[in-house]
Amino acid sequence: MVADLDIRFDWVFEGDNVEMKIIMLGSPGAGKGTQAKRIAEKYSIPHISTGDIFRANIKNDTELGKKAKTYMDQGLLVPDELVVALVVDRLKQGDCSNGCVLDGFPRTIPQAEALDAALKAINGRVDYAVNVEVPDANIVERMSGRRACLNCGATFHLKHIPAKVEGICDVCGAELVLRDDDKTETVLKRLKVYHDQTQPLIDYYTKQGVLVEVDGTKDKSEVFEAIINILEQ
Ligand code: AMP
Repeated sequence: MVADLDIRFDWVFEGDNVEMKIIMLGSPGAGKGTQAKRIAEKYSIPHISTGDIFRANIKNDTELGKKAKTYMDQGLLVPDELVVALVVDRLKQGDCSNGCVLDGFPRTIPQAEALDAALKAINGRVDYAVNVEVPDANIVERMSGRRACLNCGATFHLKHIPAKVEGICDVCGAELVLRDDDKTETVLKRLKVYHDQTQPLIDYYTKQGVLVEVDGTKDKSEVFEAIINILEQ
């Protein structure tokens, strides 16, 4: 049970800007990862992607990776108890002292409650929950064209962000692949999982008064600009 997990924090957020605990919401493939990276770069805070952490564990063939893969390949969520412990551990690291951008976490109400409890322990809270909105119809097209480098993590799109040489990563030269979790049947399942388990977080953060929404169908730079405008209002 998530409630039984040790979620005590022994670090504090410091620095001039105390408004920098940001979480990214949106369907799989909405572009929240791209935006999270850019926000993190702009404010020099870490970008914490639970999907990336799981993929790194799968690549390194760790026990966590083996467990996570069975869920990820089916388009299902990894159980809360595995994810929460991992994120809480990550947040304790020193580079999070000025805040962070959480990408792909929380994805369920119990995860959101565990995060709140952890932040409350240090008198903190989520400052912004940024919902990147994209209709389901756009998501399938986006994800089935996505090609990923399993070596360095770079992502491309057959139509929208083509690699210079098809099938080869521009960054490190490794082969590009269609990730199992980007395959159409998996995407449809992930969208269902998103609507059932993650969408309730929209209400959850609306009630907390921290939800902000941007139109994720726009060009990436426009989406980024819209987010920054909100964060710097
Ligand atoms: P992402 O790259 O964020 O789309 O995540 C890829 C996959 O990792 C998801 O489809 C889930 O199987 C798993 N995953 C990532 N973050 C979480 C989370 N917070 N809770 C449960 N499963 C997750």
